[in-house]
Amino acid sequence: MLESIEWKEIIFMERVYNFSAGPSVMPLEVLERAQKELVDYNGMSVMEMSHRSAAFQEIFDEAKNKFRMAMNVPDTHEILFLQGGATLQFAAVPMNLIENGSADYAVTGNFSKRAAKEAEKYGKINVIYDGLSIPKQQQLKFSDDAKYFYYCANNTAYGTEWHYIPEAPCTLACDMSSDILTREVDISKYGLIFAGAQKNMAPAGLTVVIIDKALAGKEIPYTPQIMSYKTMIDHDSMINTPPCWCIYMLSLTLDWISKQGGIKAMDELKKIRSGLLYDYLDESKLFIPSADRESRSFMNVTFSTGNAELDKEFSQDAEKHGFVGLKGYKLVGGMRASIYNAMPVEGVEKLVSYMKEFEAKRV
Ligand code: PMP
Repeated sequence: MLESIEWKEIIFMERVYNFSAGPSVMPLEVLERAQKELVDYNGMSVMEMSHRSAAFQEIFDEAKNKFRMAMNVPDTHEILFLQGGATLQFAAVPMNLIENGSADYAVTGNFSKRAAKEAEKYGKINVIYDGLSIPKQQQLKFSDDAKYFYYCANNTAYGTEWHYIPEAPCTLACDMSSDILTREVDISKYGLIFAGAQKNMAPAGLTVVIIDKALAGKEIPYTPQIMSYKTMIDHDSMINTPPCWCIYMLSLTLDWISKQGGIKAMDELKKIRSGLLYDYLDESKLFIPSADRESRSFMNVTFSTGNAELDKEFSQDAEKHGFVGLKGYKLVGGMRASIYNAMPVEGVEKLVSYMKEFEAKRV
């Protein structure tokens, strides 16, 4: 089968512009460096290294330090490199923080909805906001007895994003899976932040947790070891084998971010990329932006034509032109262009040109 035409096509195909929501585009420079070091990093591949070896410990410590520097994580907070995806954190957060009490949740999309549902197994959950637009601070009416307030900073499926850090009278817990490393964040305001790696950090398989150390150690007694923040803090994320390769890849991504000018540069670039798309969508006679204007995400730009057949035709035709992954989330429909840190501005410029051509043929 190696001789088959399809195989040859895969090898010689040019890289496409990948607008997938996650796993998603990674910086080419990172992939090329990983390729160079794949077989021989230090006499062996990182994939072959014992996680207890000095060589891997160095990779681990460097990744953690670089992350701490990039996100300006204060010493009060620990950085954990875990497995289980962001979804495992939907359960880990209440198990560790709810203390047989209650918690407030803002549901602004499917992932916060799922998180709230999962949390109901471990305590009383008050959904204090449920809507597709991002609430204003004054719309959040917190419960007196909530142990924490949970929200999802960027709704990957609906293409909405919180543009402020909510003030809550309790611990702040946040799912930052799809906008971590894209803006400066005052980490001291949070008790807990978690993020799956597969959008802005590394391949799927790593979840980064940032936790205020003072909050650890209050987990429900039956909490599994690998879900106990206290246990993971005490063992520096290594109560079991960590996702070694992903941690190494995160380290390379952090080097790349630093070379681009750090988080500040990521913040500026995301505004350029999303601005190009939203400006065009706002004047288009064919495409309609989906998200409420004030809630628009810098990461996931959602839109449609208002006609499901035409949406399908667009996504398929775009793919033929090298713009991949534009089909919207299954529950939402329409289209979604995910434009994470690694998406070059040029990729968005070319997408907009292509969309203009598509529109010109149909309007
Ligand atoms: N939260 C958000 C904001 C997401 O976008 C996703 C996945 N796309 C998840 C949670 C679930 O992540 P995982 O698949 O890593 O469990």
